[in-house]
Amino acid sequence: MIEIVYCFVWFIPFFSEITYDFFNSTKSEIAVHEGDILLRRGQRSAINCESCLWPKSQDGLVKVPVNISSDFSLTERSWIADFVNRTTETDYVYVERGCWSYFGKIGGRQAVGLMKNGCMDKGAIQHEMNHALGFIHEQARSDRDKFVKIVWEHIMAGNFGKVKSKNLGLPYDYSSVMHYGAYDFSSTPGKPTIVPIPNPSVPIGQREGLSNLDVAKINKLYKCNCCSSVLPKPKGSFSSVNYPSPYPNNSNCLWLIRIRRSKIFLQFEAFDLQTSSDCSSDYIKVYNGNSKNSPVLLDKYCGKGPLPSVVASGSTMLVEFATDETVTATGFRHVHQSRFFHVFPYIPSGY
Ligand SMILES: [Zn+2]
Repeated sequence: MIEIVYCFVWFIPFFSEITYDFFNSTKSEIAVHEGDILLRRGQRSAINCESCLWPKSQDGLVKVPVNISSDFSLTERSWIADFVNRTTETDYVYVERGCWSYFGKIGGRQAVGLMKNGCMDKGAIQHEMNHALGFIHEQARSDRDKFVKIVWEHIMAGNFGKVKSKNLGLPYDYSSVMHYGAYDFSSTPGKPTIVPIPNPSVPIGQREGLSNLDVAKINKLYKCNCCSSVLPKPKGSFSSVNYPSPYPNNSNCLWLIRIRRSKIFLQFEAFDLQTSSDCSSDYIKVYNGNSKNSPVLLDKYCGKGPLPSVVASGSTMLVEFATDETVTATGFRHVHQSRFFHVFPYIPSGY
């Protein structure tokens, strides 16, 4: 029994093909749509359906209770790092073998299918879970014809129709984990089914993980007042809000650095946070992975330096920045880059 926390959620699901097995419903009520989405009739656009959203708890987090089938091994279960046990919730996600998901919350137990060989990679899991949160395929957006051309004559199967979607005032996202690839469901090898406009070579169909806009859309759909972003490039920088002017009080920001290979090296170039005992007021915390459940690389850190530098053991690193209601300072600026390292993470504690 597990629970996923969104609103800042980096979940690592693994789902793939699904069975029609949920509360208060029968197969006849369900339609298969676009290959991997199961819908209840009349609920085609969860984004336009308030009752299809998962509720927010009092602490401001959206928690999706999840229960994983015993078909999955302990190792497979361990991949679902951010899930927490479901207890007695009536509405929850049930993970079983397959590769599909319902569209938004349907009420009661709803299955999400995850399976090896195609539906158990991190990006694929996030794709299926994002359906359960209420998201359609990006190329099914109501405004998609301005951004992609659907090549109907090359389509073998699947549904490439449009949905009367609520687009949240956010742009079309070629890099969304919810976008089909150019050759998906093609009847002829080498013939695309989707061509980006105007530049046909724009990459689509990535399954590395949620894009920056995917995260922004989750936060907007669920009215989550949190700053969070994904940094997918091997080299880059970021700083606290308003830097070098004082950062705001009462904020909680997360940055996920995610690169394709090698390790991530993070170096602070400037650091000035409110000093407090145990850094319980304002702090930076860095995790060796993609969630707050990952091992800690740099525990709560505050004050005026020395400037920390940390190395992740893999290709993801999560940086958390939290501030309380009093006192502010100029904040920080980091740079990060990928490197091949042969040393252990270095944590600045001795000088
Ligand atoms: Zn899908």
